[in-house]
Amino acid sequence: MQIGVPLETVVGERRVAATPETVKKYVKAGHSVIVQQGAGREASYTDEAYTEAGATLGSAQDAFAAELILKVRAPQSEELKSMGAGKVVLGMLDPFNAEHLQTMAQAGITGFALEAAPRITRAQSLDVLSSQANLAGYKSVLLATQFYDRIFPMMMTAAGTLKATQVVIMGAGVAGLQAIATARRLGAVVWASDVRPSAKEQVESLGGKFIDVPFETDEEREIAEGVGGYARPMPQAWMERQAALTAQRCAQANIVITTALIPGRPAPTLITEDTVRAMAPGSVIVDLAIERGGNCPLTVAGEVVEKHGVKIVGLTNLPSMLATDASALYARNLLDFMKLIVDENGKLAIQKDDDIVKACLICENGQILWGKE
Ligand code: NAD
Repeated sequence: MQIGVPLETVVGERRVAATPETVKKYVKAGHSVIVQQGAGREASYTDEAYTEAGATLGSAQDAFAAELILKVRAPQSEELKSMGAGKVVLGMLDPFNAEHLQTMAQAGITGFALEAAPRITRAQSLDVLSSQANLAGYKSVLLATQFYDRIFPMMMTAAGTLKATQVVIMGAGVAGLQAIATARRLGAVVWASDVRPSAKEQVESLGGKFIDVPFETDEEREIAEGVGGYARPMPQAWMERQAALTAQRCAQANIVITTALIPGRPAPTLITEDTVRAMAPGSVIVDLAIERGGNCPLTVAGEVVEKHGVKIVGLTNLPSMLATDASALYARNLLDFMKLIVDENGKLAIQKDDDIVKACLICENGQILWGKE
């Protein structure tokens, strides 16, 4: 089968969907791979490395002419026109964007959105949300250090002692847990909050302290357990208790990293303007949830703003800032997913009864399949 790897065209997207390592494996499995010239440049993968791995270089048109196309971001209108109907496309196709989903279905592509894969053990090696969120969590802490005029660890010097920085992490999923680990490695004291009770043990195993918001009813506890590992919107009363405890913690902390998301919904507001006002001047908030509206209403997407003496970082697409490693992990995720839709003879053989395939197949033959199960 011919596999196409175009250059990503979304502004600021530096990742690429196949690396020389995965190209080599596709070629070994009998596929031919056509990589658009310069597709990996921003991620430090050279055209020469792709040709050495067995790929052919070509134009965008050549890459889109392939039977199966590997993408990072959902194809834009122009890209859909270039590829035409009948193509199989793998990527982070953002099925929650209804308008875009409709456009992809109308274009007649068979679209696999890997971020829709279930969070089950068998899907771990193709879990693009985890591979990218993990890097985003790491980068969020480094961004915080960049905008912060103090150090993280306690330091005893001849000129006196500097106290360790207190960090609050809101949301202890994949990104939040990596942020806890990274902040701890830098010597910070870390506090974290999550709705899911199971997060407490994970936070503590990384040396973090859990901000325990008590459950006052069985209903609250049941909602907090979430569905399929994901959080659900919590009742207002619980959110108010969480806000009060968080505000106290944030007033003593200098760094707040927010990662809280609920699938298919705007991000919950967790850091109010009053909480920001109570933070010490020079504090930094990094709002990783900004692409879903943000956990703080003062965050501005794509910008670093200063409010009430606090710097609020709303930079987007953190995995793209680590394009080499993010592409390496993402490309391996795609390679792993391919095993579910291609047979040992290298022919397309979509296993439609497979739970992972079913969940990821969002459109086919002009029809939207997302959310139909
Ligand atoms: P996510 O990105 O959807 O959300 C980030 C975190 O925000 C979650 O932990 C969520 O509980 C939390 N959150 C939501 N509302 C909140 C609120 N009001 N206050 C505080 N926190 C709030 O989550 P994710 O990182 O994608 O992880 C989701 C789940 O999937 C986790 O349980 C994770 O351990 C699990 N997971 C399982 C697998 C697997 O088994 N294959 C792989 C990856 C992740």
